[in-house]
Amino acid sequence: MNVEAMGPVFKFGGTSMGSLERIVHVAELCARLRPAAVVVSAMAGDTNRLVTLAKALSQRTDVAEYDLLVASGEQVSVALLSLALRERGIIPAPMLAPHAGIVTDSHFSRAQIVSIDKNRILKHINAGEMPIIAGFQGITDEGQFTSLGRGGSDTSAVAIAAGIGTSECVIYTDVDGVYTTDPRIFPRARIIPQINTEEMLEMASQGAKILHIRSVQLAAKWGIRLRVRNTFSEHEGTIMSSDCESIEGEIVTGIAATSQESLVQIGPLPQNIDTLARVFTCLAEHSINVDIITQNFEEHGISVNFTIVETDVLLAQKILSEAFPNVPLKIRNDVAKVSIVGVGMRTHAGVAATMFKVLAREKIEIHLVATSEIKVACLVLRSQLNAAVCALHSEFIKEDTHAKSE
Ligand code: ADP
Ligand code: ASP
Ligand code: MG
Repeated sequence: MNVEAMGPVFKFGGTSMGSLERIVHVAELCARLRPAAVVVSAMAGDTNRLVTLAKALSQRTDVAEYDLLVASGEQVSVALLSLALRERGIIPAPMLAPHAGIVTDSHFSRAQIVSIDKNRILKHINAGEMPIIAGFQGITDEGQFTSLGRGGSDTSAVAIAAGIGTSECVIYTDVDGVYTTDPRIFPRARIIPQINTEEMLEMASQGAKILHIRSVQLAAKWGIRLRVRNTFSEHEGTIMSSDCESIEGEIVTGIAATSQESLVQIGPLPQNIDTLARVFTCLAEHSINVDIITQNFEEHGISVNFTIVETDVLLAQKILSEAFPNVPLKIRNDVAKVSIVGVGMRTHAGVAATMFKVLAREKIEIHLVATSEIKVACLVLRSQLNAAVCALHSEFIKEDTHAKSE
């Protein structure tokens, strides 16, 4: 099939696949709109259940058996949607990662896609079938299952779209599109009809769960048009593009929030030129992403504070206590991060000052701060996260006056 004629890749998230009725709805949508291929996530709650089962037996997430388990929810979704599609006259090609040739590195629980064997998928498309592909999964060179990190099926979908050479990927989810902030935290948030790629990258990296960060990076890299839509409404959703302006010239486009951050405090460490290099190299070797970093020079040495995602805490603790056996190490899991994002910040001074003023007015203490050209992020207490989001939204963004309050 030529690329022009090929439809988009659709991806359906956990809530969209959350019950048999919903799967029937998804099958009807696919039968009507004929995407080139469909990527599915596990039914809502399934991956959490599998993670809980694994954790009851072992805290290890860096081993093959962990991924074999947690990525299995997607197999159920592939099979159920395929059954429902066949009933509607579509010939499905149900595919797990090995069938679709989705090869990753072997960093279990956080694997990255290395390549996709497009011919395995195109073969089915050319035969008039609809590939139904498990998201979130990959396979190593040695044939072991891997998983891409929580929320990773967005990334599977974009990688598959790029792999088979189609230009559009539609992420079907449980909200109408990308909002100025999580509408579950702040119901008067506004939908963003078009979002700039840079802002979406920053929103996703600051924890806006709506899109997995790697999916945004891959879409930008491969020129895939990314659209976020609601499976259960006709709303046109949000289109991400690299050339759109920020909404109505506002300084802040969106507010991201995540309570999945933890603060690691290590020190005093020796005041050597390579101390920071040693700390962060051993974390990097285990693919642990570090976010905000600060260092303080104290009487007895350097103390380093940094944030990582909460799911990496046990691994980080193990690595650091092995590398620096006698150095005090403290982990705080009661923190969260709130970030304001907008390309408009480049040309406006005083945005951070206003953010700090708003948080001070709400008596929200700021523990760490990180900035980039288009974001200011503050680490706050988890118990104050929602209050911070609401106060910042009210300050920086015009509200949707039509939204229902909770
Ligand atoms: P799926 O299972 O479809 O992948 P997710 O739960 O991963 O869905 O992502 C959708 C959720 O993202 C929404 O229900 C919403 O609570 C949350 N979210 C966070 N930030 C935003 C935002 N800026 N706009 C829309 N939704 C957001
Ligand atoms: N099912 C996986 C998860 O819950 C992947 C995804 O939803 O994108 O994280
Ligand atoms: Mg998701």
